[in-house]
Amino acid sequence: MSNLVIFLGPPGAGKGTQAAKISKEKNLAHISTGDMLREHVSNGTELGNMAKTLLDQGKLVPDSLVIEMLIERLNSDDCKNGAILDGFPRTIAQAESLDEISNQFKISKVIVFDANHEELVRRILYRGETSGRSDDTEESISVRLKVYELDTAPLIDHYKQKNLVVNINAIGEVDNIYNLISGEF
Ligand code: AMP
Repeated sequence: MSNLVIFLGPPGAGKGTQAAKISKEKNLAHISTGDMLREHVSNGTELGNMAKTLLDQGKLVPDSLVIEMLIERLNSDDCKNGAILDGFPRTIAQAESLDEISNQFKISKVIVFDANHEELVRRILYRGETSGRSDDTEESISVRLKVYELDTAPLIDHYKQKNLVVNINAIGEVDNIYNLISGEF
């Protein structure tokens, strides 16, 4: 049985940065569904071609496609020691699909990254100057924040009911936030 830690929070909250650092330190796999999808887009796979416009517009890729991709990834060898999920689940349907495989993978904690919207927009626009991400634009950011509030934020209650949620103030120095999160592992 492998443990999963979910990083849940709006775009730009620093989930990817922290997941990259902590996964290395704790020898866990770092699974970013956004990174996986961007790789599909740049490799021009069938999934990538289907997902490209949605990614650019800041909309979610259909659950069935993301769930299949995630479950295949969880079954690879480097996840045996556990994994950090960065950007999954993003809908109740995705969360339920994870609950269904709880005989193989146990969610040990859900770390919720708290940050206000103005700060997030500022950060994403700043990141967009160097990230090369086609969705780090003003139009796309506003869609991504709305999608987060509508589809993803309800997951906080889903996991609160299971007593799994820990809130982290995601505004501040990367190293300070890292120390806060690291203490949760
Ligand atoms: P991220 O890198 O996590 O910000 O994700 C970038 C984009 O990839 C999102 O705006 C969605 O279009 C897509 N994406 C990533 N993860 C998911 C997911 N779990 N479900 C649906 N779409 C996703």
